[in-house]
Amino acid sequence: MKEILVLSGKGGTGKTSVTGSLATLMGKKVLADCDVDAADLHLILAPSTREENEFWCGVEAEIDAEKCTACGTCVDLCRFDALELQEKARLKPFSCEGCGVCSQFCPEEAISLQDKLSGHWYISDTDYGTMVHARLGTGEENSGKLVSMVKRKAREVAEAERVDWILVDGPPGIGCPTIASLSGTDFVLLITEPTKSGLHDLERVADLARHFKIPCGVCINKWDLHPVTSDLITRTCAERGIRLAGRIPFDAAVSASIVMGLPLLAYKPESPAATAVQDVWLHLQEMISG
Ligand code: SF4
Ligand code: SF4
Repeated sequence: MKEILVLSGKGGTGKTSVTGSLATLMGKKVLADCDVDAADLHLILAPSTREENEFWCGVEAEIDAEKCTACGTCVDLCRFDALELQEKARLKPFSCEGCGVCSQFCPEEAISLQDKLSGHWYISDTDYGTMVHARLGTGEENSGKLVSMVKRKAREVAEAERVDWILVDGPPGIGCPTIASLSGTDFVLLITEPTKSGLHDLERVADLARHFKIPCGVCINKWDLHPVTSDLITRTCAERGIRLAGRIPFDAAVSASIVMGLPLLAYKPESPAATAVQDVWLHLQEMISG
């Protein structure tokens, strides 16, 4: 079983669209959407929820209004400005960092730290295989931990279902969620677009993959919008020893497929972009086996 992680240096490069199309081409697989801050793979794979689970992570203050005498000590001490005093002390929404200082210094022992419900994760059925995905709660910041949870569950399901592949739609950027998504991955497919900033973002995420010694390949999406920059990206990749998995042309069928809620390969398999994605998949297999 091999795990392919699809990454991009930033959002909006077509990463999820490519992932959704690859999902239609791969054999037995489990899908994982690790873009937990802005999950959208479900928009084109139409999962039907089989299992919904709570994601508890961290703690936050809870005030017992019966015990609170409104002395204001906690409000003065909270350096995150998470408390306010009305008739009683009150927690502001999405502000508590769970540091526990208020709880320690409340003279009435009116504050306790309680486990926090930070989101949900799901196991769902799609036409293309089982999918593990998640939704982080509003204002929550534990996306790295939720990414690790999604990946762990995807591997458990993959082992139970004895599939050949795990296909992961990763988070954008190079922060904590991306680092979490790289853990244990066999191959990273980097999606970029032909702009100078796209190249810059690509180099940053390629450096991250190299740091963790994970082989990677590059796919230039909408390459024909700026062929000169696409050539620059190709040369830069060659200089860095990064193989090119393929180039996908701009194709109006891509956005039409998203509007229809379908992977491109299911919507218009003969379109130029769909043909290019099929080539990417062939190259990917060669890269991974080679
Ligand atoms: S420190 Fe305790 S008693 Fe004082 S305002 Fe805060 S919760 Fe109420
Ligand atoms: S736990 Fe820390 S962050 Fe949360 S309200 Fe108390 S002092 Fe503020």
